[in-house]
Amino acid sequence: MLSERAKKIKPSPTLAMDAKAKAMKASGIDVVNFGVGEPDFDTPDNIKEAAIKAIKDGFTKYTPVGGIEPLKDAVIGKFRKDNNLEYTRDEIIVSCGAKHSLYNIAQALYGQGDEIIIPSPYWVSYPDQVILNDATPVFVKTYEKDKFMLRPDALESHITKKTKAIILNSPSNPTGLTYDKKTLEGIAETALKHKLYVISDEIYEKLTYDGFTHISIASLNNEIKARTLVVNGLSKAYAMTGWRLGYTAGPKDIIRAMTNIQSQSTSNPTSIAQKAAVEALTGKQDFIGTMLSALDQRRKFLISELNSIPGISCITPSGAFYAFPNTSKLYGKQAEGNKISSSSDLALYLLEKATVALVPGDAFGDDGYVRLSYATSMENLEKGVKRIKEAVSKLR
Ligand SMILES: *Cc1c(COP(=O)(O)O)cnc(C)c1O
Repeated sequence: MLSERAKKIKPSPTLAMDAKAKAMKASGIDVVNFGVGEPDFDTPDNIKEAAIKAIKDGFTKYTPVGGIEPLKDAVIGKFRKDNNLEYTRDEIIVSCGAKHSLYNIAQALYGQGDEIIIPSPYWVSYPDQVILNDATPVFVKTYEKDKFMLRPDALESHITKKTKAIILNSPSNPTGLTYDKKTLEGIAETALKHKLYVISDEIYEKLTYDGFTHISIASLNNEIKARTLVVNGLSKAYAMTGWRLGYTAGPKDIIRAMTNIQSQSTSNPTSIAQKAAVEALTGKQDFIGTMLSALDQRRKFLISELNSIPGISCITPSGAFYAFPNTSKLYGKQAEGNKISSSSDLALYLLEKATVALVPGDAFGDDGYVRLSYATSMENLEKGVKRIKEAVSKLR
């Protein structure tokens, strides 16, 4: 029999759609896929070469659980340079992807009776990681008019005696929005007042537009730094999703607990990927600029096209690689017997009638929207947008 824990985890609401898109593709249908959450770029050559060298040098054995010292030092250097944050080696742990970093935090911090605040819309894994660790997710709705930023007063009104932590994500998946300094200061003040931990997922840090500079909440002052776990990783900035490398910086005692937990589950991240990560963080950084300017061009195209479709409106994202258009005005309409009354209905309609795959907003906790990834070619964007336009114009 399955454990109670396993029974509490729902299958991902995106799975059915994804399976359907894949089945259509396999049967030869030309599906334009806006569903994927990873860069369409290849990992840069200098990083690949560092990995090949690691293999040839025989660097293929167990390493220290929390990462090799050169990688911890590279991470420390990154925090100093990019975020003006100072850490020591015992305040850093390297894990098998940022998702694993977040899971280690959940294991080390959350437990029965704890409430963990998650601003909604949220990244799909946050609630389930809370539930898997016997705690309760508490959702705080954020609004388009606030650029989907959590307002400190909304945070305050959801805090109870049981509140243990809050999970922040900027730049955000799925909204593509970034937090400004003033809002972060308000959140930090509220978190400190109630002695909450802040889990700050900054995986899209390098992907920002229009001159926006990412701010880590941990960098605001030493008090909030002492209560913040900063999570970051290599997947998005260096197109390294398959390498599985992420890291956390935070208070020593929590990092030590996470390292103990990791020592009993995965042990060290792959030795080869660690060598590649040292090169990624300390080698030449021009790849990011190249990728970013391509993403920026696609972002501008996609947002302006989406806004030209009657019934759809989309605020301009300032980070990551997602558009999160408001599609709620389409609900209640229908075409050829397809009644659209939710984001899932719309996603299914677009998949079946327009052969375009995207993710319904209810997967992220907000049914009024859908998510499109623009980490795909301009050609795909043009083709996909045209199909969406045609299918939406048939809705009455
Ligand atoms: C992609 C993603 C991650 C996880 O990335 P890893 O590949 O596990 O390093 C974490 N948070 C958000 C918001 C993401 O979109």
